[in-house]
Amino acid sequence: MSQCHGYAAKSATTPLEPFSFERRALGPKDVQIEIAYCGICHSDIHSARNEWGAAVYPMVPGHEIAGRVTRVGKDVKKFKEGDFAGVGCLVDSCRKCEPCQKGLEQFCAGPGTFTYNSVGRDGLATQGGYSSHIVVDENFVLKIGKGLPLERVAPLLCAGITTYSPLKRFKVGKNSRIGVLGLGGLGHMAVKIGKALGAEVFVLSHSASKKEAAKRLGADEFVLLADVNAASKMAGHLNFIIDTVSAKHDLNSALGMLKLDGALVLVGASPVPLEVSAFPLIMGRRTLAGSLIGGLPETQEMLDFCEQHKVLADVEVIKIQDVNRAYERMMNNDVRYRFSIDLKTLA
Ligand code: NAP
Ligand code: ZN
Ligand code: ZN
Repeated sequence: MSQCHGYAAKSATTPLEPFSFERRALGPKDVQIEIAYCGICHSDIHSARNEWGAAVYPMVPGHEIAGRVTRVGKDVKKFKEGDFAGVGCLVDSCRKCEPCQKGLEQFCAGPGTFTYNSVGRDGLATQGGYSSHIVVDENFVLKIGKGLPLERVAPLLCAGITTYSPLKRFKVGKNSRIGVLGLGGLGHMAVKIGKALGAEVFVLSHSASKKEAAKRLGADEFVLLADVNAASKMAGHLNFIIDTVSAKHDLNSALGMLKLDGALVLVGASPVPLEVSAFPLIMGRRTLAGSLIGGLPETQEMLDFCEQHKVLADVEVIKIQDVNRAYERMMNNDVRYRFSIDLKTLA
């Protein structure tokens, strides 16, 4: 066992606070990573505040982990000390069920083991990346190119793969015209990855203040949803929409922006149910779908793609002591576009 320091939520209503706990002893297939940076995903907030139910405390959130390998078990093949490495939302799965066999470990029937708020094979509660180090089976550790800025790579481990996976599944490419609904951490990655795949990208936002940034991030057009004129011009215009909104919002007008046979993929996980009218779906034979992060092989593919296309997150680096303030700011829609915690500040 090794002593680990981090920040934990002790209840749904109290601020995160310093917390010490034990990580399992390094097993033969395990990699120990000193965490350099961890992104703050809105799922961390939903989880820490128990907005989805099922929260177990104390909870150390964080599943956008990037750092350096400090120790490897005797049977580890993929990593050596000093390598850059990443950990996303998953740290284990059964490896036998059909989804696992297909490299879709996020849908493990086991079920899979999530990076925090889960119980590992070792019987210990899993604890996430707002901490000094983590011990993970090498099969669930991703390779990060040496020399990349880890503070900007960390968010790819969730925001990157969650947007890359459905864009690939729906074959977004050069002839696609896509909408990115909600320009936050996930949304800004969807813009960058959509552009790297060759698509024409429309940002569909509730915030007028994001117009300049949307263009700077590479979007071709910015549509303020409150501008009825601009929004109505979008009717029947898009092949695909990725919906990253973290709260209750209007799905039906977004569905109406799709062409015949277009698809809207929901990745945003509003704690409150969304209302869907039959007609915008029926009339254009449209599809409403969902998507959950991505499996391990696709996560590595995404990291390699982002390295090749020079896609990185836009981050505001913060000290761990400012994590509660960052949560408040994200809940007030005041993040451009991801907070990345510098874990050196734990010391
Ligand atoms: P975020 O950075 O906070 O961004 C969410 C965006 O949603 C905001 O920037 C805002 O965009 C829009 N929004 C927020 N509150 C709103 C409201 N009340 N009404 C309308 N629009 C609102 O969050 P994130 O980290 O990108 O995460 C987004 C969602 O995806 C969360 O629910 C998270 O749990 C979920 N998620 C899902 C997966 C998955 O695998 N499916 C993975 C990671 C995260 P505009 O101002 O531009 O409208
Ligand atoms: Zn996440
Ligand atoms: Zn499985």
